[in-house]
Amino acid sequence: MENPQSHTLQLMEFMDNSTSPYHAVKEASEILDTAGFNRIYEDHDWDLSAGAFYVIRDGSMISWIVSDATSLGNGFAIVAAHTDSPNLRLKPVLTGEKFGLKQFGLETYGSPLLNTWLDRDLGISGRLIISKNDSLIETLVQINDPICRIPQLAIHLDRTVNDEGLILNPQNHLRPIWNDLGSVMETFKDFLASQISEPATSLKSWDLMLHDVQSATRIGAENQWLSSGRIDNLVSCHSAITAIKDLTEQKVQNRIPMVCLFNHEEVGSTSATGAASNFLPSVVERLTSQHKTSDKYRALSKSTLLSADGAHATHPNYPEKHDIEHQISLNGGIVIKRNNNERYATTATGQAFVQTLCDSNGLPYQLFSNRSDMNCGSTIGPVTSALLGIETIDIGIAQLSMHSSRELCGVEDAELLTLFMKLYLKSGLFSNL
Ligand SMILES: [Zn+2]
Repeated sequence: MENPQSHTLQLMEFMDNSTSPYHAVKEASEILDTAGFNRIYEDHDWDLSAGAFYVIRDGSMISWIVSDATSLGNGFAIVAAHTDSPNLRLKPVLTGEKFGLKQFGLETYGSPLLNTWLDRDLGISGRLIISKNDSLIETLVQINDPICRIPQLAIHLDRTVNDEGLILNPQNHLRPIWNDLGSVMETFKDFLASQISEPATSLKSWDLMLHDVQSATRIGAENQWLSSGRIDNLVSCHSAITAIKDLTEQKVQNRIPMVCLFNHEEVGSTSATGAASNFLPSVVERLTSQHKTSDKYRALSKSTLLSADGAHATHPNYPEKHDIEHQISLNGGIVIKRNNNERYATTATGQAFVQTLCDSNGLPYQLFSNRSDMNCGSTIGPVTSALLGIETIDIGIAQLSMHSSRELCGVEDAELLTLFMKLYLKSGLFSNL
């Protein structure tokens, strides 16, 4: 890494700005724009000549580089990550009020650690659909002022909480307060409309979510860790975009490097834009449409996909939750994830590929396996591997507090992941097995 300091600063800025999947895609597209990538649209004809391109579908994005006509020869070298994070999202009606306070209802998205959303200063972001001049317009909104809070019940009113644990009912206990009764703004919809200087009647609908307004921060005695919301999985998104952006300065021989950032991983990937959708297969189809069908399948047989997502670091306070023969450390290097029940897509071949690429470049790696008596999480790896039938490897970097509103990872790991992806996108993995 030429300048680790600036890489970390760029990562922190990316995470602070990417408070919703739509904002993550916007941030990523701005990075690619500065590197000379061209945005193309799914409803246009595609010019399939050489160049660097990206296409956006809502909160998902696919980017790639074609150096010349021979690029398809060795297939695609794909990195995939996800733009969404578990959080709390707004409902369609925002009119609640109780005991002198104005509130609104929320729904959990994915599997957030609910307690981590209490007593935080919360902002809101996402997209609004506005009616203007007889048409519907989508606009992104990001409010980083602390406009609401979900107050925890005082211990005097909940004496057993420290012994018996905190139980939160999402319908009753996760309603934020945002204003006093009797104030000028009637409903939260009025507040949202005021933020974009539009009448409330023109505001038709929204995909909005809360975020902790505290910025990403380096912590630890040697500033060795990164504390932020959405580390899962914006760290992987940022590494992937940085890696493909830097490739535009070099010619990649006989290979199409590609980065896929998918929405909806945290809710199972089955949507029009998720990893289980036709987004990636349709892009592959269009990029290979000028070739013979057999050329397409020959290329796919040589292709590989790195599915990059957060990995569990071994928690020092809960060693019983981990397989002690597969300990994972913060700043301990690339984590290769294995699961014999296909919760991760990595095969023996894929594991050996990644280890070899790490070994030949002096990069550290660690092997993760879940405890055999616990259910294992999953990623977009198995989904994409099944859709395309290509060798897929689940990797990531270690983190603590996964799915908290504020997660923790190693600063060095984030740099290492970027470097690893750069090497992979440029040269692919070994294919001589
Ligand atoms: Zn994840």
